[in-house]
Amino acid sequence: MAEDADVIVVGGGLAGLVAATEIADTGKRVIVVDQEGEQSLGGQAFWSFGGLFLVDSPEQRRLGIKDSFDLALQDWMGSAGFDRDEDLWPRRWAEAYVAFAAGEKRGWLRAMGHRSFPVVGWAERGGYDAMGHGNSVPRFHVTWGTGPGIVEPFERRAREAQKSGRLTFKFRHRVDALTTTGGAVDGVSGAILAPDPVERGQNSSRKIIGDFAVRAQAVIVASGGIGGNHDLVRKNWPKRLGDAPKNMISGVPEHVDGRMIGITEAAGARLINRDRMWHYVEGIQNWSPIWPRHGIRILPGPSSMWFDASGKRLPSPLFPGSDTLGQLHYIMSTGYDYSWFVLTQSIIKKEFALSGSEQNPDLTGKSWLMTARRATNKGAPAPVEAFKSKGADFIVRDKLEDLVGAMNALAGDNLLQLDHLKAQIEARDREIENPYVKDTQVMNIHNARRYIGDRLIRTARPHRILDPAHGPLIAVKLNILTRKTLGGFETDLDSRVFGQDGKIVPGLYAAGEAAGFGGGGMHGYRSLEGTFLGGCLFSGRNAGRAAAKAAG
Ligand SMILES: Cc1cc2nc3c(=O)[nH]c(=O)nc-3n(C[C@H](O)[C@H](O)[C@H](O)COP(=O)(O)OP(=O)(O)OC[C@H]3O[C@@H](n4cnc5c(N)ncnc54)[C@H](O)[C@@H]3O)c2cc1C
Repeated sequence: MAEDADVIVVGGGLAGLVAATEIADTGKRVIVVDQEGEQSLGGQAFWSFGGLFLVDSPEQRRLGIKDSFDLALQDWMGSAGFDRDEDLWPRRWAEAYVAFAAGEKRGWLRAMGHRSFPVVGWAERGGYDAMGHGNSVPRFHVTWGTGPGIVEPFERRAREAQKSGRLTFKFRHRVDALTTTGGAVDGVSGAILAPDPVERGQNSSRKIIGDFAVRAQAVIVASGGIGGNHDLVRKNWPKRLGDAPKNMISGVPEHVDGRMIGITEAAGARLINRDRMWHYVEGIQNWSPIWPRHGIRILPGPSSMWFDASGKRLPSPLFPGSDTLGQLHYIMSTGYDYSWFVLTQSIIKKEFALSGSEQNPDLTGKSWLMTARRATNKGAPAPVEAFKSKGADFIVRDKLEDLVGAMNALAGDNLLQLDHLKAQIEARDREIENPYVKDTQVMNIHNARRYIGDRLIRTARPHRILDPAHGPLIAVKLNILTRKTLGGFETDLDSRVFGQDGKIVPGLYAAGEAAGFGGGGMHGYRSLEGTFLGGCLFSGRNAGRAAAKAAG
């Protein structure tokens, strides 16, 4: 039977777009199949904050940060904690990816017009020893233009290839099976879904109006993870993190449904590390949701006090921004699936950022004027102030007794005792006068302010939480928010997928979240952040180049 293209890419998210454009650039013909409509092109990456992990970049150097491949690899390995036989390829991918982030990545993107915001963020700061989890230095480079700014160069290249006939999009085409001939994957088949004019990211109809089949020499699966499918998240939830939460909100659209993972497995692909996942503990319910159960992650600075459901302060080093999975593990061990931030107006103003392109109109709209207002305005950025006044999880009061009363009313379980909370906050407040103290969180605040980027826009001047001059007081009920799938299809460095028999499945490639961002889980257990978009870029690029080369 005649081929419809040289390569088929399943998924028009970032990984699929990168793979497809690399194939088209070689002059080969590629079809991109996506179950969603054209309006959702770019997948999750469009909604993302656009944070990218880069190592020893000019942006870091300008801020006095001394970074290196060796330091970054030390951090990566300390966070990944690779400890399984299946970690052979994930570990190789991790090494190759850190080299990419310290080498070609920035220049490759820059040549396509990509730019970063000049203040580099410091995510996942750890708090253990030098070989433990976390970034030793700031490495989170926010794309100027956030998520849409990272999608844009690849969409532009894809549209050019589309015009010249090398790339064809098939939107509203849902893949239900991979087809094989003589053991080699050579096509996909599935359902044509009815057109649906929903806005980008909203749930689209699953009404079937026809079926389709297309053939090629190879298929790249770039269908994303499972974060929008809470049943699958719960099914794969690792016991080491306690029981799966009863209540979760969604940090990803519903099309991140994990369905294609089962379909690819059915074609013989080997899925590894399915119990490794990356969910956040600082989720807030979106007061203006786009997708079902839509939650937003707070990217917190270091100063908010963090309490569990019973009002006990989280232990050191589980401070905001230190160790996402450590926090998740601790919170699930309390028997409740929520926790609390308690902070001041001065802290929210300087330290709260919300992850998502639509929550950062200044950076997304590339407006220097609006961005500068972050530093000069009296209030927090407008989207944060909107959550403060309209968000279901926010409480604002002048007095601690009123705040605690309202927290109990919101949680509905009367677990919090005013005296207990007050004693812990007052004790912390007594530590604030001196720059050399024993409270580790206060030490971290002083450490953060020695970095100019944090002092400028991320870390409030140390002050007493109960100082009315910094009020009002704010409490935020924090939910668990599903996001990333760290495991995936086992692949070699050309993104070729291994079969359940340990041999490469001819014609089958995987990239992006479906491939655990490379190898079947290049993050191991934990991420240093900004590594997911980067993993899509790197694995999509490798998959596209290798599949194009293999196509005769
Ligand atoms: C709000 C938010 C903020 C984020 N911020 C960051 C950040 O700052 N830095 C960072 O590194 N990462 C961030 N991420 C994570 C990152 O955006 C994602 O991990 C990444 O974009 C995943 O890309 P992907 O191409 O692998 O999958 P997706 O974007 O999920 O794309 C997969 C595509 O495949 C399609 N598909 C699935 N199944 C089928 C099927 N059976 N048939 C046809 N089509 C199918 C889907 O419709 C979808 O379009 C963020 C994510 C979100 C949601």
